[in-house]
Amino acid sequence: TKESGRNHYQFYDPEMSLEIAENFALETQLHEAIKNEELILHYQPQINIRTGQVYGVEALVRWNNSKLGLVKPNKFIPLAEKTGLILPMGEWVLKTACQQNKKWQKMGLPPVRVAVNLSAQQLQQPNLIETVENTLESVGLDPRWLELEVTESILMKNTTLASKTLHKLRDMGVYISMDDFGTGYSSLGYLKKFPFDTLKIDQSFVKELNQSPEDISIISAIMTLSRGFNMRVIAEGVENQNQLNLLQQLDCEEMQGYFFSHPLSPEEILKYLLSFNHK
Ligand code: C2E
Ligand code: CA
Ligand code: CA
Ligand code: CA
Repeated sequence: TKESGRNHYQFYDPEMSLEIAENFALETQLHEAIKNEELILHYQPQINIRTGQVYGVEALVRWNNSKLGLVKPNKFIPLAEKTGLILPMGEWVLKTACQQNKKWQKMGLPPVRVAVNLSAQQLQQPNLIETVENTLESVGLDPRWLELEVTESILMKNTTLASKTLHKLRDMGVYISMDDFGTGYSSLGYLKKFPFDTLKIDQSFVKELNQSPEDISIISAIMTLSRGFNMRVIAEGVENQNQLNLLQQLDCEEMQGYFFSHPLSPEEILKYLLSFNHK
């Protein structure tokens, strides 16, 4: 048939098989990466510009590969999701972020919340609640110092189960935030269904804030909504003073972005936290 003919052709498409080979090699290496402890977390500060304090950090995974260098998550998270490697990887991220936060607390730093990104597969694991509970317990971290970030697209997979799970996590005292808010299809209904503490305004609305009355209206509407739902709001991707000023005028006082700091290695973020919160 025509169909199989096309498949047949695709199989011999040199570019296609190169991609398959590359992905296969990457997959093998990714397997090793977890075993060989090549994954590392970087941390990006989250700042309240009214109080001037760093109140949280977002953990962002990187892959420190001897041949490829420091690989960004967009290059390997999709593959990790396809292969199921995201599950052990996600558990590693959760545990490492909690341990890091506990270490900072033991050093006597002013406490910060650590935010961890969840993938769709993690959220669909029936034992996610147990995993989070056990991790917090073994590390000795109070649940209120952990925040879990979910995107709308991962909530769409199995909305009822996701809602139940997130409510239970919220009841445990863990914070829940909606990542990339405003970019999906069902944001508004989801505000009622899910127990979000925080809405993270997607960076696409912040990027051209200076020249965009439309983006200003969107953010202003998000601020109004957040008050009605009693949710906090953080703007992502803040890169300059202009954006900071406009956000401040819109009453958005929590921010994250290159203007304050890029995501930092554990050594760098420690220095940052030491200097920033004791200023
Ligand atoms: P995200 O959760 O939306 O994270 C924000 C991304 O924006 C990060 O990219 C961060 O480095 C970048 N960013 C921060 N400030 C600015 C800024 O001012 N301007 C611009 N242009 N970008 C900024 P990163 O670290 O490459 O992560 C990309 C995505 O990978 C994340 O998007 C998240 O969806 C995913 N990801 C990262 N770590 C994990 C993880 O541990 N688990 C899972 N499941 N996903 C992760
Ligand atoms: Ca995030
Ligand atoms: Ca985001
Ligand atoms: Ca994103």
